Amino acid sequence: MKKKILIFLSLVLSSHLISADEEHQHAHVFTPEEEARFYEEARRKGDFDILNFRFPQTSWRECTDVITGNYSGYNCANRRGISDILKSFMDDHMSQCVQEGLDEINMGELDQLHIIHDGILGDRRHSPRSMHAENRAIDIRAFKVTLYNGEEHTLKFNDKKYRSFYEAFRNCWGQTVVTYNGCPVYAGSLQRTGSIGWEDKNHQNHMHTSVPYCVNGSYGGYYYKR
Ligand SMILES: [Zn+2]
Repeated sequence: MKKKILIFLSLVLSSHLISADEEHQHAHVFTPEEEARFYEEARRKGDFDILNFRFPQTSWRECTDVITGNYSGYNCANRRGISDILKSFMDDHMSQCVQEGLDEINMGELDQLHIIHDGILGDRRHSPRSMHAENRAIDIRAFKVTLYNGEEHTLKFNDKKYRSFYEAFRNCWGQTVVTYNGCPVYAGSLQRTGSIGWEDKNHQNHMHTSVPYCVNGSYGGYYYKR
């Protein structure tokens, strides 16, 4: 009897470990209030492991940068913490990938891009670390696009009529992460490289979009791969 229980437990444990190693267990991503509280607490305790990021950080000026944005349900923030690398990948490549999506559905030419998101920073106290722990991932709920002809469209991730838009976006983003960040193609799929979406039950309403940590053509071990 005891032996059976042990076997059962070890199966449960090992399957958990495997999935934790391979997949991004969707780490809790903070709301603006939770983020403020998290830092306040860390500062009070002098917890430098939480306060010090391992990768350089910058700000996204959501109201005024070339790509604008807002946390879903909130106004745009004057400054939101983001890693240098995610910010530069957004600035340099995101509009092009949105345009590839627009081309796929014949919607037109992108003029202005606005991102409605569910957060960037995640809880930093877990290991291995989520890309959110380093501000290297953004959970995208919708792209709000203004076209050169003046039309505005909000392309919600969970709206099935935009599935081919998001497929093209994800292929483009995956190729970007491979070409400019030296990451291997994840699980043989460009679409699953640097993003997680409808194939995962926790990603029906938002698309996790990241710049994974890659060294010498492989994924760095301490972090989730996406
Ligand atoms: Zn995410």
